[in-house]
Amino acid sequence: MRVVSNIAAMQRLARKWQRAGTQVGFVPTMGYLHAGHLSLVKRAGRAVGKNGVVVLSIYVNPTQFGPAEDFSQYPRDLKRDLKLCREAGVDVAFTPRDAEMYPALDCGDMSPLSKRRHVGALENFSTYVVEEKLSQTMEGASRPTHFRGVTTVVAKLFNLVLPDVAVFGAKDWQQAAIVKRMVRDLNFPVKIIVAPTLREHDGLAMSSRNQYLVGDLRRRATALWRAIQMARAAVKKSKAIPAVKLKAGLKKLIEGEPDAKLDYVEFFEPDMLLPGSKVKRGTHMALAVFIGKTRLIDNAKL
Ligand code: AMP
Repeated sequence: MRVVSNIAAMQRLARKWQRAGTQVGFVPTMGYLHAGHLSLVKRAGRAVGKNGVVVLSIYVNPTQFGPAEDFSQYPRDLKRDLKLCREAGVDVAFTPRDAEMYPALDCGDMSPLSKRRHVGALENFSTYVVEEKLSQTMEGASRPTHFRGVTTVVAKLFNLVLPDVAVFGAKDWQQAAIVKRMVRDLNFPVKIIVAPTLREHDGLAMSSRNQYLVGDLRRRATALWRAIQMARAAVKKSKAIPAVKLKAGLKKLIEGEPDAKLDYVEFFEPDMLLPGSKVKRGTHMALAVFIGKTRLIDNAKL
């Protein structure tokens, strides 16, 4: 496995592959890898075949974090990540640095915290990719600049890696929908695959942020999965349930758990993310819940 940090070197390699007709599969991540990430690597490998290559990027993208969010605390362990990548059959681990991705962040000895203050006003970076419809609700409503950061960094990474196929997790359903929309609207020559959410034995969706869940919080975090199960049971029993009524029931279930606070729960049509007033089988559900200080998200088809 090759580890590439320099962005020009990554782009050179990508162009070489392109000239040789080598299929490139790409899995963008923020690192602190778990089995969910590695399932995307497997999916990418299947998509490009045995003559193709798989690139996994590890980059904690500062522009997708809000000023009060966990950018500086976000878990990082590059050595462990690289070992997992090697074992999973990744061909190239791409680990770009802030200094190259966002030149204005390259200010010598700035600590991550002082870096954060500069992200809103990058002196040497002023071009963003903004999706304007699907990003208005749910995560976009709770985290106003989040998707602008995501679409911008994904567009940058696509330009550096030149993938034929990129794999995203269904865990971040809205993100995958927005990336698909960006690719279609801006004609990126890349196929987007959305791979299923991997879960722990008790249903908790795997996430790098699960490592914040210490002591009782870990057990309480199963409230998200229990809420999905409750909604599934409800749509099995009756044909169409008013969304308002189901939301109230789910809020009660979640907030019955100590230290749990519902941020949102929404029911929507899975592609356009359009909310509906009635919930039935096949409707998609997504929710965000604070478990203590940790904000977790999950979603599923009902
Ligand atoms: P992250 O490192 O959290 O930005 O995630 C990188 C990619 O992995 C995204 O496409 C996520 O949707 C995907 N991902 C995260 N958690 C899971 C999971 N539990 N199962 C499948 N994919 C996941």
